[in-house]
Amino acid sequence: MTKVLMFHRVLPDKQITQPNAYSTFGTLISQEYLEDILSFLIDNDFQFVTVSELRKRKKTEKIVALTFDDGYSDNYEFALPSLLKFNATATFFPVVNPCKNKTVLPLDIYYQCIDEMNLSETERMEYITGTIKRNFYWAEPNRQMDILNSLFKSLPQKSRVSYMSAEQLKELSDKGFEIGSHGMTHSLLIADYMNAEKALIELQTSKQWLEAITGKPVTAYCFPAGRYNAKMIELAKQIGYTSTCLVVRNKNENEVLPSYDRIFVKPNSLGELKKALRIE
Ligand SMILES: [Zn+2]
Repeated sequence: MTKVLMFHRVLPDKQITQPNAYSTFGTLISQEYLEDILSFLIDNDFQFVTVSELRKRKKTEKIVALTFDDGYSDNYEFALPSLLKFNATATFFPVVNPCKNKTVLPLDIYYQCIDEMNLSETERMEYITGTIKRNFYWAEPNRQMDILNSLFKSLPQKSRVSYMSAEQLKELSDKGFEIGSHGMTHSLLIADYMNAEKALIELQTSKQWLEAITGKPVTAYCFPAGRYNAKMIELAKQIGYTSTCLVVRNKNENEVLPSYDRIFVKPNSLGELKKALRIE
C-alpha cells in the first residue's frame, strides 16, 4: 500500500487566527493535528519514505510519503520539529521565487485581504472557492497583482506569512528530508498564458536553484494545484525529473514518469483520512 499525503501550512492551534482563508480552503492545519496523523501512521505500521524513494519500493509495502507544498516558513518552524519528534521523513516542495527573494505569492496577499475584510459567509466563500478565486488563480502572476489592485482598496503593508530561506531549505536537506521543486512562481503549467519557454523556466530554473542550494540532485517535481498534462510530464522527464506529484490523476493516460496522486489533508479530517488510508 503506497499513500502520498499532501500538506501545506502548519501552525500551533493557538497561532491560527480567525477568520483564516488558508484553513477554510484546507491549506493550513494545526501542528497538533499533524502530530495526531503521525501517531496514527506509526500505530498502523506505515513506514515513512520520501517521494523519490517511492519508485524504488514494492507496491505491497505499507509506506507513506508526506509532502509539504509551497515552502512556507511555518514548515521549518513547526512541521520540522514534529517530523523529527516522530522520526518521520518527508518531501518539501518550495516555490522558488518567494524563498529566493523573501517575498510572498499574490495568493498570500489575496487571502490576507479577504481575512481583513468584513464579509458575509457567502461572500467569503465566493472569494475563497468561487469564480473570483478561479479567475485570479488561473491568471499570470503579474496579472494577479493587477487583479489584487482592482479587487481591494488597499493592499497590506506587511505580509502575515513568509517562506523558508535558502539556509532553512539547506538545513532540511542536510537533515535527510527531500527537497523537490514546485516551480518558480506557482504558475499553473497548463494555464492559457503558459508556453514552452515559461514552462521551461518553471521546471528547470527552479531545479537548478534548489540544486545549488542543497548540493543534491532535485528529482521530484510537484505540479502547482496538481494541474498538469502529458506534455508537461514529458518535459519534466527531459529536464531530469524522475517522479512527479499530482493531486488527481487524469484517467486513461500512459505513465511517462512515476506520478503520484495525493490525499489532500485538510483541517480536522482524521476520519476521512483514516478511511482513505485503509482503501486499497
Ligand atoms: Zn502549491
